[in-house]
Amino acid sequence: MRQKLLPEIETFLGRQPLPLFIGGAWGPAERGGHFEVRDPGEGQLLGRVAAGEAVDVDRAVRAAQTAFRSAPWARLPANDRAVILHRLADLLDRHRAALAQLESLDVGKPLAQAAGFDIPNVAQTLRYYADLAVRTRAREPIAVPGFEAHTLRVPYGVCAFIFPWNFPLLLVGWGIAPALAAGNTVVIKPAEDTPLSTLYFCQLAEAAGVPPGVVNVVTGLGETAGAALAAHPGIQRLSFTGSPEVGRLIGASCGRNLVPVKLELGGKGAAVLFEDAEVETAAQALAGAITLNTGQVCCTATRWLVQRKIWDRFLEQALHHLQAIRIGHGLDPESQMGPVVSEKQRQRVLGYVQKGEQAGARLLLAGGPATVPGHEGGYYVKPALLTGGPDNISAREEIFGPVAYLLPFESEAEAIALVNRSQYGLANSVWSADLGRANRVAEALVAGNSWINAHNLFAHGIPYAGCNLSGLGGGVLGPETLLDYLRAQSVVRPRS
Ligand code: NAD
Repeated sequence: MRQKLLPEIETFLGRQPLPLFIGGAWGPAERGGHFEVRDPGEGQLLGRVAAGEAVDVDRAVRAAQTAFRSAPWARLPANDRAVILHRLADLLDRHRAALAQLESLDVGKPLAQAAGFDIPNVAQTLRYYADLAVRTRAREPIAVPGFEAHTLRVPYGVCAFIFPWNFPLLLVGWGIAPALAAGNTVVIKPAEDTPLSTLYFCQLAEAAGVPPGVVNVVTGLGETAGAALAAHPGIQRLSFTGSPEVGRLIGASCGRNLVPVKLELGGKGAAVLFEDAEVETAAQALAGAITLNTGQVCCTATRWLVQRKIWDRFLEQALHHLQAIRIGHGLDPESQMGPVVSEKQRQRVLGYVQKGEQAGARLLLAGGPATVPGHEGGYYVKPALLTGGPDNISAREEIFGPVAYLLPFESEAEAIALVNRSQYGLANSVWSADLGRANRVAEALVAGNSWINAHNLFAHGIPYAGCNLSGLGGGVLGPETLLDYLRAQSVVRPRS
């Protein structure tokens, strides 16, 4: 069943294949290739998109270099850049309905989530970093006896970005807003599954007056366009969000060129529920967390550690909420959980449940494929709950679907040890009425983020990053992230 689309989305998708955006101009890939993008809710073709390759990446990097060197963007006072970025944020707000529809269609996420969180968050990110850049001193005096000195903060040049498919535009915002506010130019390689909102964003950037070459987008496959961008000697920085496997390749490429790299990678987050937690609230929140974006959230709670005394009560509540979830097409207003992004992802999720069971885990909620009437070609799965030993494959590896693994524990020390045996280190949460204990445990968990009595907490100004297998290089969303995109230079003379 083809969904009814807004006229601007029909027009946008009518241009086939959707072109690359390089140096302020829209055009095909040099060698004419393209790839297909599907609506995961239907399994049907949404459109064809230009498949950029190394030659296109090279054109984009050169355009970004030219824009950095000759256009005024890097030399504009932060205030003037902020005016343009605010205008872009306002345009995002004005086009929220269209962008949300496109994002919902491309990723499969419920429209209300795209319209209520993803898209407005991008506008807020632009405003946050634009304003922060205005308040950041370009020249900072250094008080050292015998010297007249200051630190100069200048943008690096061309910053490259490679993004995954789960929060396409949200992550573009978190990634490029600080780089742009600092005066850099950017080249973006969106995920091949979900490139649409990034291209639409470029239309708005043009309309907002972002100069040509400041934002460039090369759509294409990871092994071609992505690899070429990571290996390009003309980039000054690279930020990658995606899997640890690809992160390693990107890190190696950047290492060869001595390009600083930021890696935001996967996770296997835990939630630790103590017996004094508000069980009903926690069960509802965790069922919401594991089904948010159909479980395709890097930082979500996937291992639920439950103190034995509350195991039965918690499980009953969790099952109730998971079984009640309404699965459907992202554009259906009744849907609470959409499809996963692709058939490949569906097989991955179903495969992990199977492998977990084969390795000795017990199914508390069976999961499996879901069929949505009228949308039989979509990539739907049901939520699943497993329990078993802590070394089961489903307890160790990132599944990236609505599948949680329950583990019982007795003591605080045991819970901490169970969480910290993961190789990942992105985000965990602690649930307890005893805030002293909650803080103590939160601080003992090895990860970039520890949340208390909630999971998936984000705010501009609170840094979000991973450690160990979950990433390196600084993270996003914090005030420090702006400084990641400003090169510090000491200017010194002897004081006479
Ligand atoms: P992925 O690593 O397969 O792909 C990410 C991007 O890398 C895509 O644009 C892809 O085209 C590109 N790519 C693939 N092979 C490449 C190569 N050889 N060289 C250069 N680029 C290449 O990840 P995915 O499946 O798109 O996303 C899921 C992963 O992303 C999960 O592990 C998830 O946890 C992680 N993620 C992390 C965060 C975070 O903030 N830490 C946020 C979202 C997603």
